Amino acid sequence: MTVKIPAEVISCDNFIRGEWVKGEAGSHDIISPYNGKKIGRVTVPSAAQVQSALKLADEAQIEWGKTPLKERTRVMFAFRDILIRDLNEMAHLKASESGKTFDEGKAGLMKGIEVLEYALSLQNIDMGGKLEVSRGVSCEYRRTALGVIANITPFNFPAMVPMWTIPIALTLGNAYVWKPSDKTPLTSIRIANALKEAGLPAGLLTVLHGNAETVNAIIDSPIVKAVGFVGSTKVAKLVYQRATALGKRALCMGGAKNHIVLLPDANPELAGIGIADSFTGCAGQRCMAASVLLAVGDVDKHIEKIVERAKAMQLGNNMGAIITKTQKDFLVEAIGRAESHGAKILLDGRLAKAPTGMDEGNWLGPTVLDGVKLGTEAHAVELFGPIISIIRCKDLTEAISIQNTSEYGNACSVFTNSGAMAERVSKEAKAGMIGINVGVPVPREPFSFGGVAASKFGHGDITGEHSLDFWSDVKKITVKWEKQNDNNWMS
Ligand code: NAD
Repeated sequence: MTVKIPAEVISCDNFIRGEWVKGEAGSHDIISPYNGKKIGRVTVPSAAQVQSALKLADEAQIEWGKTPLKERTRVMFAFRDILIRDLNEMAHLKASESGKTFDEGKAGLMKGIEVLEYALSLQNIDMGGKLEVSRGVSCEYRRTALGVIANITPFNFPAMVPMWTIPIALTLGNAYVWKPSDKTPLTSIRIANALKEAGLPAGLLTVLHGNAETVNAIIDSPIVKAVGFVGSTKVAKLVYQRATALGKRALCMGGAKNHIVLLPDANPELAGIGIADSFTGCAGQRCMAASVLLAVGDVDKHIEKIVERAKAMQLGNNMGAIITKTQKDFLVEAIGRAESHGAKILLDGRLAKAPTGMDEGNWLGPTVLDGVKLGTEAHAVELFGPIISIIRCKDLTEAISIQNTSEYGNACSVFTNSGAMAERVSKEAKAGMIGINVGVPVPREPFSFGGVAASKFGHGDITGEHSLDFWSDVKKITVKWEKQNDNNWMS
């Protein structure tokens, strides 16, 4: 479906105690990557507005924290119904601001809804636990909210990434402060309005716009107890250091440079589709995209399939746009630099034409670089575009040793028909998420999401079971009601 780009400029303010409030520290335009047209104007809160919003969130959390889990969950059920009802409209909006296709916009929301469904199940699966530990004495776990928590999200998934944490953190009883990407803030309007309509009490979701200044004010406030972040490694590190220096818990997901190992015994069709779709999906702007292809032995027929599928992508139809003109120019120059470093261009995205009437958009076609040299930019740096760098390897041992040198560790996939080879990659690749004949190995709920190395700072994962301890505390309660006459050593 063609993305419906908003005809009117959307005003995007800050969501404070359930109302939309104009930011007093300036405003900036939101430009659609599709056609370069202004589609929104976002206002940024002043320092005083940030402080007062956090105070209101803190006040609202007191009652919410005392509300039984089952009651909080009912709000989330209603939230889910609204998201499903508004799915198409939201998909158009998020695609318009992020450059995704309509189908990608919808898929991101569906994944977010899957996380929400996991949060709905907490009322049944996360019951704590109680045990009589000695005569007349019992111990109990009780999960408690932290209070006000904050999350900072990137441009590339304006709904899915915030939805990784909003349902879980709210269901656990926290007040949630969200700083959306300064490039794609418009989707936050729909999410905040949906939660309001679902009956979330005012103050429990706060949306504050801006950039580093807003983020730093949020982190520095003593009201904020935990900080989640998803974005580039450079900023993830800054946010992690700032929050942890203040004694706060922080979980900061960073960038990636995902490697795919391609073995000669792989099914060429499966590999062609899986690898091409991985590096072209979301125009390569996702932290799980394939970026380096470690081609082991003679895999030329597989590479032909990858090129064939990538070549068939139609910009504006099944492949989206690059977020900004600056980023598109960077990618074009990076392709030139790879060529000058000795890479052979099997498919040149610079030659792709913009869709009709969208010449002012940021378009770049799929690009396949062969014979990329180790240590060059195309091998080692996260480019964040529809570019795959092929490195030829003599055997699996060499491929794994190259993967192991990556500073990042989000995902690594292998395409093979050999269980033993697949198991070797699963064991030896330094990555948090492994794919076997899967190009984008995003774990589906209830399995949690998270990388290692420079792709993640902090402990635990951002979704699923491994996120629960991040967004809550676990109290341990030990109880005795009567004096015991046996030799019980608990006083
Ligand atoms: P970014 O780091 O530029 O921005 C992320 C967020 O940080 C935005 O909200 C932005 O406004 C804010 N920000 C920017 N500069 C800041 C600063 N100096 N101090 C505090 N906050 C600041 O990332 P992006 O370009 O929006 O997103 C793309 C990046 O995100 C890629 O590197 C991608 O790999 C990564 N990403 C990672 C994951 C993951 O789970 N590991 C998921 C999605 C995206």
